[in-house]
Amino acid sequence: MSATPTTTPIPNTPPVHSVQSGIGGASPTEVVHAAPLLTVNGIEVIYNHVILVLKGVSLVVPEGGVVALLGANGAGKTTTLRAISNLLKGERGDVTKGYIEYREQRIERLTPAELVKRGVVQVMEGRHCFAHLTVEENLLTGAYTRNMSRGDVSAALEKVYAYFPRLKTRRTSQSGYTSGGEQQMTAVGRALMANPRLILLDEPSMGLAPQIVEEIFEIVKDLNSREGVSFLLAEQNTAVALRYADYGYILENGRVVMDGEARALGENEDVKEFYLGLSSSGRKSFRDTKFYRRRKRWLA
Ligand code: ATP
Repeated sequence: MSATPTTTPIPNTPPVHSVQSGIGGASPTEVVHAAPLLTVNGIEVIYNHVILVLKGVSLVVPEGGVVALLGANGAGKTTTLRAISNLLKGERGDVTKGYIEYREQRIERLTPAELVKRGVVQVMEGRHCFAHLTVEENLLTGAYTRNMSRGDVSAALEKVYAYFPRLKTRRTSQSGYTSGGEQQMTAVGRALMANPRLILLDEPSMGLAPQIVEEIFEIVKDLNSREGVSFLLAEQNTAVALRYADYGYILENGRVVMDGEARALGENEDVKEFYLGLSSSGRKSFRDTKFYRRRKRWLA
């Protein structure tokens, strides 16, 4: 039995390898079986009318779930997030096949601003803080889409500071002078100000020290369990993402090649070898791996 029947078979694409759950006696987590909050079904994305990047990607984020979208540089993770939050147009990209549903309603025609109002907020790769604004001013921009009273805005700010105490101490500093970790926290805090139900978090670990990465993922986990915010995390850092996610999808060349519960994925030999740099004989260099032979078997 596969972990969950989340991935709809797509014509003319290789079968997706669903990783078995229950390895080592682990039982599937309840959250994986919760009602879908977001469903991406067989989407194809083309840039500039000619560059085919996503070739039938399907995935599900259950209500209350933390789902990892894994894959190497250029696999199509950011493109998938952009398709969901409808940010493709600015990149001359289009969803040409498939559909996307959020809370059982089609959302491909909604603007990014309408999506934010419905609770879908993207935190873009590279944080994109306004360098000349203070940390607090950056946070306040996140409340722009909500018609909030002053009191509500202060309460929302205090909530962000409760999750990110570091930001409170840096509230009057210009964002451009804060560290990478603080900018990532500002970007997530700004998303929180919009009262999200689903955060699309693109490469939160990029360029950050391991300790800061752990700190940010701990906060993600807290926001998930205490505020009920669901997450779709695009990450190249497979090891960290699988530790914090409930479920994962692996993208290669614009296709989902494997999906499964995070724990089962982390124990899968191919995932260990290709994404975690480990094998049954211990840590292995990518140079020593017969990469293409193994990969062919994987995709067969
Ligand atoms: P990364 O971790 O580097 O962001 P990714 O998995 O997020 O990688 P994408 O950024 O989605 O991958 O890129 C997937 C493919 O689409 C790459 O080959 C990239 O060159 C191409 N691509 C991305 N944006 C555009 C664009 N605006 N126009 C044309 N091609 C693009």
